[in-house]
Amino acid sequence: MTAIGLAILGSTGSIGTQTLDVVRGLPDRFRVAALAAGGNVSLLREQIEEFRPSAACAAPGAEADHLASDFGRDAWLPLDDLAVRPDVDIVVVATAGRLGLEPTLRALEAGKIVALANKEVLVVGGHVVRAALEANEHRGAELRPIDSEHSAIWQCLWGEPIETVDRLTLTASGGAFRDYDMDALDRVTPEQALIHPNWQMGPKVTIDSATLFNKGLEAIEARWLFDIPIDRVDILQHRESIVHSMVTYADGSIKAQLGEPDMRLPIQCALTYPERAPQQPAPPLDLAARGTLNFSEVDTERFPALPTVLEAGRRGDTSAAMLSGADESAVEHFLAGRCRFTDIARLLVEALDAHEADTDPGLEQLIAAEAWGQRFVNERVAAGIR
Ligand code: MG
Repeated sequence: MTAIGLAILGSTGSIGTQTLDVVRGLPDRFRVAALAAGGNVSLLREQIEEFRPSAACAAPGAEADHLASDFGRDAWLPLDDLAVRPDVDIVVVATAGRLGLEPTLRALEAGKIVALANKEVLVVGGHVVRAALEANEHRGAELRPIDSEHSAIWQCLWGEPIETVDRLTLTASGGAFRDYDMDALDRVTPEQALIHPNWQMGPKVTIDSATLFNKGLEAIEARWLFDIPIDRVDILQHRESIVHSMVTYADGSIKAQLGEPDMRLPIQCALTYPERAPQQPAPPLDLAARGTLNFSEVDTERFPALPTVLEAGRRGDTSAAMLSGADESAVEHFLAGRCRFTDIARLLVEALDAHEADTDPGLEQLIAAEAWGQRFVNERVAAGIR
């Protein structure tokens, strides 16, 4: 069996490092063909020494420039070029924000498999990514989810025709502040918001989990991944993050996927599909030791970011791309102490009200909408939000 070539975009982040963990566990199956990092150049240097990719890159800077000359400038390539190299079979898109959108499009157009960890790619670019996927499926293009909820749904769907699906149910831990009342939410600090009860993740997604914005992004992600109307995607609070998501079929039967909260299993599934590798990358789940699993409705009054982003998703126009940009800026301002936690949702509501949406957007309009959202929030915060 020839080893499958991987390009890992965002190799030094949370998903990137866990992808390399999975590769370490299956060394005969995978070959790291390309690595791309942001600012963590020293870790990228270590990864290059360990995995010997044929191409690499990092965000520009003095340290990156030094590594580029050690590595070889001919093989130091932009993200878009890494994604389409002939020795790459699967592109793992684990970059932050919208940075992964163009490489995803290029990879699909080149008939590659994209294993997607980055939600913004679909929330901002869903219209064009879906079109690129459908136009290139005959050449081998595939889109596989890494996000734990979508991996769960995807695994439940294996062998089941999509026509027999009634509803998808995304489970939500409820984030860091699920037990806080409204007054307490006004006073929470970035440090408190950065502690997730169940998952170890990057800062942006951890804050998005605390506002529940993340769950709305995931509903939009599900809409594009599984080509199902967003009104058939439900959200259910489940404190323990053991049931990763569920599918209800036309006959009322429900399938769910369970496991300890550990991203290495969904990553491995995306890399080894349609096979299941005979090794467990994550700790085993002991249900008897867990004892109880809890489920309840999400409180959309305390967490208005969720209904706001779901409304944007329902509109199906540039609203979701715009909100993605608005949220990125709002989270930055919150982390820097320039606005309160509850201002994040307030800014999103205002941005959705003010946005003039494009109903049939191409890539250019989607990117412009995202930038508009960022600008709107930056200007509101600069003007003094209180
Ligand atoms: Mg998730």
